[in-house]
Amino acid sequence: MKVSKIEHIGIAVENLETAIPYYEKLLGTGCYAIEEVKDQKVKTAFFKVGETKIELLEATDPEGPIGKFIEKKGQGIHHIAFAVENVNEALSSVEANGIQLIDKTARKGAEGLNIGFLHPKSTFGVLTELCSE
Ligand code: ZN
Repeated sequence: MKVSKIEHIGIAVENLETAIPYYEKLLGTGCYAIEEVKDQKVKTAFFKVGETKIELLEATDPEGPIGKFIEKKGQGIHHIAFAVENVNEALSSVEANGIQLIDKTARKGAEGLNIGFLHPKSTFGVLTELCSE
């Protein structure tokens, strides 16, 4: 497996409406996409920073993964996403190295990317996402 770049950093926020203007000012660039990912019970907002993106995540349901994360840990960095050529191949190779997976096979994430998560128990506490186009 080879990672080509940090695709994005996911940040859990309570409220996109207040977080978006902050990031627009901080980064000096507008939010270029807002998208709801229904099966993740989340609304996302994206910013470009060079080749990397910032993905803000607001829960649409307190029982969803982001809702539970914020309840437990508060707002903050939620995950880091690495770009790979093929998520399914990358997931198998990671698993073969004894790393615990959340997703055994790729599913669809925001922006139509194929994504899969590694379990933070196996990744030094960092929820890690692999993604490919
Ligand atoms: Zn992500």
